Amino acid sequence: MTGIGIIGSGISGLQLALRLQQLDVPVTLYSEQTAEELGAGRPRNFPARFAPTQQREAALGVRGWEFDDARVYGWAVTVRGEHGALEFPAALDPPASVVDFRLYLPHLLGEFTRRGGDVRTGPVAVDRAARRHDLVVVANGDRSVRELFPVDPARSPYPGPQRILCTGLYQGIREDSPHTLDIHFVPGAGEILRIPFLSRLGPAHVLAFEAVPGGPLEAPAHLDADADPIGFRREVLRLLGEFAPGLRERVDPGRFGLIAPGELAQGGVTPVVRQGWARLPDGTCALAVGDAWITNDPLTAQGANLGSHTAFALAALIAGADGPLDEAFCRTASARLWEHARHVVEWSNAFLAPPPPHVRELFGRAAADKRIADAFVSRFHDPEAMWGVLADPEGVESFLAACTDGRP
Ligand SMILES: Cc1cc2nc3c(=O)[nH]c(=O)nc-3n(C[C@H](O)[C@H](O)[C@H](O)COP(=O)(O)OP(=O)(O)OC[C@H]3O[C@@H](n4cnc5c(N)ncnc54)[C@H](O)[C@@H]3O)c2cc1C
Repeated sequence: MTGIGIIGSGISGLQLALRLQQLDVPVTLYSEQTAEELGAGRPRNFPARFAPTQQREAALGVRGWEFDDARVYGWAVTVRGEHGALEFPAALDPPASVVDFRLYLPHLLGEFTRRGGDVRTGPVAVDRAARRHDLVVVANGDRSVRELFPVDPARSPYPGPQRILCTGLYQGIREDSPHTLDIHFVPGAGEILRIPFLSRLGPAHVLAFEAVPGGPLEAPAHLDADADPIGFRREVLRLLGEFAPGLRERVDPGRFGLIAPGELAQGGVTPVVRQGWARLPDGTCALAVGDAWITNDPLTAQGANLGSHTAFALAALIAGADGPLDEAFCRTASARLWEHARHVVEWSNAFLAPPPPHVRELFGRAAADKRIADAFVSRFHDPEAMWGVLADPEGVESFLAACTDGRP
């Protein structure tokens, strides 16, 4: 066996490589960047990794950052409405891990290499890699690769981004309760989040504007914070004052700002599901995983967690295969991976739309009963369970009954 070639060194490619290595399946990782390069540059994302992802990291022996500054233990939720705001705290149990991927990805790549992993650095064409391996897995979302996996319109309801993002790493915000995330839902306009986060430069706050396109939260996504840091900061503070006043009060004006120039990501993500496998010119097949397969809006914080889940599920299918890793394998594997992924996609897409009455009712009940709030927020760990609750009014009804019966 010439083994598996993995193209891409994000969480999906790295966890798949580490898992196959652990299962004694020969694997080659093609990474565009060196470990040093993965640790450099502007931030591309700000992922919270939930408990199941942390458990997979423990299984891989790559767990790290086991301290409070890299953890989120709870949420403070505010839902603005015509008649004032609904506010409630909720415990996130077990806590999420919040570590800059410019720390996380080099750590995983370093471990794979230290254990004797075969890493080829630099660009590689999928068809060239396919000639060298039994199967090529694409875990890299760059444009040329995306073209290989066309969008599946039946699974991609949105024609464009549903939120325009302006997310950065800030200092100078006081926490009400330590290691707690703030989320402000502003109906019709989007969401504002503040998340404690372990950055490259130490503890920081992610401040994220998830703006409905054309709405009042969109402005900072179009400002050049490098060219005009003062104007950018002024606009951010203005929006906090108008739409998240409780958060604005916790800003220390003397210290507030990005932790360093460039620590900001701006733009929109179109949520799409691509075809999960592609036939290559020589008749072999390639599989897509992670963002190369499914791109979600980050609002539900699922992309990296799904990449990790998919890595383990695919590694099990590869290690357990009793035939060739051919087109039939790719079709079956992709269909099996979708059985879990569809819950993430359907929930994440639904969460971008205005909430239906049964979800509004759930929020109202969560504000009145902490058992419900805790059980709801802790469902972020488990997209299948979460979508089981939110998909229809019956799901909410049985969830509420179970919470108040003491069986959440
Ligand atoms: C603002 C923001 C916040 C987020 N928050 C969360 C969260 O809280 N929880 C969560 O689970 N997910 C979150 N996500 C999503 C998460 O970051 C991605 O789903 C995840 O990182 C995808 O990993 P991947 O390995 O599949 O692909 P990628 O991260 O795309 O990595 C694949 C690798 O391919 C290469 N590559 C990819 N694109 C390019 C390119 N254009 N040029 C060169 N090389 C490239 C790189 O080597 C890269 O390391 C967030 C995303 C954003 C944008």
